[in-house]
Amino acid sequence: MPESALAALATYPRVHFAHLPTPVEPLPNLSRYLGGPELWIKRDDQTGLAGGGNKARKLEFLLAAALAAGADCVITAGSTQSNHARQTAAAAARCALESHLVLYAPGGAPPAAATGNVLLDHLLGATIHWTAERAPYAESLARVEASLRAAGRRPYLIPYGGSNPTGILGYALAMQEWAAQARDLPPFDAHVFGTSSGGMQAGMLLGAHLCDLSTPLLGISIDAPADVLAPRVIDLAAGGAATLGLRWQPDAASVCINADYLGGGYAVMGAPEREAIQLLGRLEGILVDPVYTGRALGGLIDLIRRGTFITGQRVLFWHSGGMPALFAFGESLLRAVAGGPARDPS
Ligand SMILES: *Cc1c(COP(=O)(O)O)cnc(C)c1O
Repeated sequence: MPESALAALATYPRVHFAHLPTPVEPLPNLSRYLGGPELWIKRDDQTGLAGGGNKARKLEFLLAAALAAGADCVITAGSTQSNHARQTAAAAARCALESHLVLYAPGGAPPAAATGNVLLDHLLGATIHWTAERAPYAESLARVEASLRAAGRRPYLIPYGGSNPTGILGYALAMQEWAAQARDLPPFDAHVFGTSSGGMQAGMLLGAHLCDLSTPLLGISIDAPADVLAPRVIDLAAGGAATLGLRWQPDAASVCINADYLGGGYAVMGAPEREAIQLLGRLEGILVDPVYTGRALGGLIDLIRRGTFITGQRVLFWHSGGMPALFAFGESLLRAVAGGPARDPS
């Protein structure tokens, strides 16, 4: 059964615009600094498409679905600094479709400064619809969709995070890509990554099943308690399997979510995120973001300090992108850098 599902995955309609395979690199300086496991990084921040990130893989499948549906524009939603919205705008431009982005802002008012991903959304030609509604933005999406249809347009709705059974196929494919890369590498003990709408994790679980990979996949939750996120991940993974003609869902035990690093909430940068951003930048010349990858790497750093991952092990950190959001946090990041030591005492 996995064989026929893999064949279905290989031929599933997909627009090719991501830069794949993304590199896998060792992190020798950070590994030495932390004195624990050997750390490696999978550079999904280098997927191309207007700054890279994990949404490029999902959008290859979602834009193919939009084109197959005869759409003339796409709609999606996200937070103010949504990487998903920015990459959707880029993918739509690439496919000669218009993009409409429903973005959250306090009070539904446009932010005073168009910076980071918001600046890029404008440059990519997106029409932005500001809303005070929070995720999953259902009412605002429905309103924008209805007004486009009333104007005779053919919109295609891409869900929040690009996470539906079609979108997650991008991460099933990513695991297959990793399986090929892993053949030339020593064995790994864990994959660690940020998880939010759950699509990346669901796709990775599906791909690991299809490729018979058993290394644990540990999602560091960005904004949801584990008991809320885990059933979503299972549903998404089962839905993705069904699109490939496979009746399967992941064992609950394989859906590993650590929600110890939610800090002050979504997009509230705290000391762990600041430290992760500074450490990876100063020691490896690689930038993580304040919202997702900084939080996930901050969690991994803490787990190493607590002895969850130890010397002699090998851990792969998936860098899922988000770099443009750094510019929206410039002032407080500068204060942290000026403070000198990597660990902010506040
Ligand atoms: C969207 C996003 C994630 C989370 O991926 P999900 O599939 O929503 O769980 C992680 N990192 C970055 C940078 C993202 O933009």
